[in-house]
Amino acid sequence: MQPLTEEQIRESFVNTTKGEAERVPMPGLHEVLWDEREYLGWHDAKAPQRAYVTVWQGDHPVSFVLRAAERRVRNGISAMCSLCHMPQPGAQVTLFAAPRSGEAGRKGDTVGTYICADLGCSAIIRIAPPAAPMQMAPDEIVQRRIAGLQERLDSFTQTVLAG
Ligand SMILES: [Zn+2]
Repeated sequence: MQPLTEEQIRESFVNTTKGEAERVPMPGLHEVLWDEREYLGWHDAKAPQRAYVTVWQGDHPVSFVLRAAERRVRNGISAMCSLCHMPQPGAQVTLFAAPRSGEAGRKGDTVGTYICADLGCSAIIRIAPPAAPMQMAPDEIVQRRIAGLQERLDSFTQTVLAG
């Protein structure tokens, strides 16, 4: 993804108040490997239930506030992140609720989505599977996962914005 500045991120929140956007704790942007990400996702260290995601929509960034549900997927069963589609142990996938932008969100309407609990989709999809006969080359598999994540991020963004 294209690099982002703190100012760009703060100005791009679509589902929270301006005052709240000003107070969002920022991640260490200088440490981010932008080339290896499809979105920027981080947690509020002081309030771990709160998370934030920034994506590019064409030439402008869009940021969301998300709230993690208390209830996690049970461990011992496997779950799938709806953004990266990687199957994982249940405890590593969390239900996040994103208030819709605009009037709908102010009335309490949210979009619920299961996402990697650590918002680490970009890292997990880049772990190439071992090469196997009768299967796509490992780097081709990774490229397809990247395209899939990008596509599902776009539609998630549209759903939140459609409020
Ligand atoms: Zn994921």
